[in-house]
Amino acid sequence: MKRTRRIFLQQFGSILAVGAWAGMTEAAGGKSSPAIRSRLEMHRRGELRERGEKLRDMMKECELCPRMCGAKRLEGERGFCSASAQLEISSHHPHFGEERPLVGRGGSGTIFLTHCGLRCVFCINWELSHRGDGVEREIEDMAAMMIDLEGMGCVNINVVTPTHYAPHIVLALDIAVGKGLTVPLVWNTCGWERLETLRLLDGIVDIYLPDFKYSSGEMAAKYSAGARDYPKVTQQALLEMQRQVGTAHPAPDSLVHRGLMIRHLVMPNGVSGTGRVIHWIAKNLPKDTYLNLMSQYTPAYMASRYPDISRRLTREEFEEAVKQAELAGLTNLEIQPMPR
Ligand code: SF4
Repeated sequence: MKRTRRIFLQQFGSILAVGAWAGMTEAAGGKSSPAIRSRLEMHRRGELRERGEKLRDMMKECELCPRMCGAKRLEGERGFCSASAQLEISSHHPHFGEERPLVGRGGSGTIFLTHCGLRCVFCINWELSHRGDGVEREIEDMAAMMIDLEGMGCVNINVVTPTHYAPHIVLALDIAVGKGLTVPLVWNTCGWERLETLRLLDGIVDIYLPDFKYSSGEMAAKYSAGARDYPKVTQQALLEMQRQVGTAHPAPDSLVHRGLMIRHLVMPNGVSGTGRVIHWIAKNLPKDTYLNLMSQYTPAYMASRYPDISRRLTREEFEEAVKQAELAGLTNLEIQPMPR
């Protein structure tokens, strides 16, 4: 317990020194968009660091995600998500398999965080999210990864399953922005986010990339470790994300630089409640909200133990989902081809 606390304090202590150094070396603003220049201003007036520290305080009795498990992470406890206060990262690399407007020529600069608070039984990244495959890293390491990824030509920084490490990400971003990072930040999330956490990310996240997994609390509870409030919490989160970043449309360079991009994975036997998910989006968000309807469901991890989700999707099930999205009048649809 003590060891983790020491590491954490060390992580945050050393940021002060790095921050001072970064102030001397920071880039002048360069090629960036108004949103990125505003983020640089937040760095200059110390607001990025302040937000990171407020998020860090939420780990005292952790309330970062809707699980609200109260783990004393700053004292070394691990939460329901299995994360302590020590940052753990599974991998970082340019990724060419994300949505086209996030990839460009250089790829999306993904940083896969270890652990997860939602813990779905069908998770395709279960080695990271459930088994905890990853390496302990310092916040400065993460900042260096961000800089490296931009240096490799990545068009954004894409933090995958980020919520339980929100403080670390914002503090790493503060350092990276001070060293000249100019690409957008993508918050690649399960969608199940607290408003209190999201509000501290306002002006920091450029692109929200949430899942909208279920419309039924019963299904969410069954397949995502009792998260019965998933539909309600995610709906509120989507509205807040829309308020912060607006609708996602590609710029002349074919990339999305800002906006809300929703993913919905259609599941077999109606488990994801696709019709109601689509209906809610069409009714509560602009009709040109970006929605990626995904056909790639595969029974990964423990899914074979649950009959309703122990097979792939049929073509008929997916075609029905596409039809419903079109009938609902959604105009900014990405339709994933059926896997062969
Ligand atoms: S982020 Fe982890 S530790 Fe914090 S409330 Fe959620 S599950 Fe608990």
